[in-house]
Amino acid sequence: MARLPAVFFGHGSPTVALETSETTQCWAKLADDIGKPKAILVISAHWLTRGVAVTAMERPPTLHDFGRSLPAPLFDIDYPAPGDPALAVRVRDLLAPTPVHLDRSEWGLDHGAWSVLRKAYPEADVPVVQLSMDATRPPAWHNEIGRRLAPLRDENVLIVGSGNVVHNLGVMSWEGRNASPYDWAVRFNAAIRAAIEAANPEAVIDYAALGRDAQMAVANPDHFWPLLYVLGARARGEPVRFITEHFEYRSLSMMGVVVGRTGTAT
Ligand code: ZN
Repeated sequence: MARLPAVFFGHGSPTVALETSETTQCWAKLADDIGKPKAILVISAHWLTRGVAVTAMERPPTLHDFGRSLPAPLFDIDYPAPGDPALAVRVRDLLAPTPVHLDRSEWGLDHGAWSVLRKAYPEADVPVVQLSMDATRPPAWHNEIGRRLAPLRDENVLIVGSGNVVHNLGVMSWEGRNASPYDWAVRFNAAIRAAIEAANPEAVIDYAALGRDAQMAVANPDHFWPLLYVLGARARGEPVRFITEHFEYRSLSMMGVVVGRTGTAT
C-alpha cells in the first residue's frame, strides 16, 4: 500500500466552512488528488487537554466550539463522519508508553477538524478520529508524537493537522480580510516555510528563537503545534509543498503544508 501524505491545513476563521473560495477549492482538489483514505486522524488547534486523549466513539458529535457572535448557519453545520474506535486503539498503542485516554463521551469533531474536512471530504463518509494535544508539553514533544504516528501513513490513514502558522486574534483586523499582513507575520511565516523546505524541523520546533516575530505570530501556541505533528510524520528526504499561501485579517497565515506525494492512495 502506498504511503499517504500528511497535511497541515491553515483553517483561519470558522466561517470558511460556509464559503466556496480559492482556499476551499484548493482543499477539495488536494483531497481529490489524495483519494479517500481508510480513515483520517486530525490534530486540531482546538482540542487541548492535560494528558493525551483520542476520540473513540462510533459517532463523534459535531461540536460548535466558538462564540455566539459568529453567523447562525455555522451552528447548524453537522459533519456526520463516523468514528473509528479501532484506529483510536491503534493510536493509543503507537503512542505507548505515553498514556492515551480513549474518549467515548467528552469530545467529538471540533471546528478545526470539520471546517476543513467539510470542504475536503464533503460526503463525510471517511471515518475521523481526533487526537488531543497535551497543553503542558513543549514543542519538541508534539513533534515526537507526530513521529510516532508516522506508521499510520502506511496504513491508509491520512494524518491532518489543523491550525495556523501565524495566528494572533488580538491584533487581527476583522474588516481587513484581504488587507496586507503585518511585517512580522510575513517574516515569521517565511522563516518557518524556509525551515520546512530545508528539512530543518529543529528550527520549526525552536520557533521561539525568532524572538518578537515569534511572540507576535504565535501569540498562543495552540494553532502552531498541529504543524509540529505533521512535520514529525515526515520521513527523511520526503518532499513537501505549500498550498493556500496567503494571509487573512492581517494576522492569520492560511498556509498549508503537504508532506509526501499526492495521488497515491489505493
Ligand atoms: Zn482555529
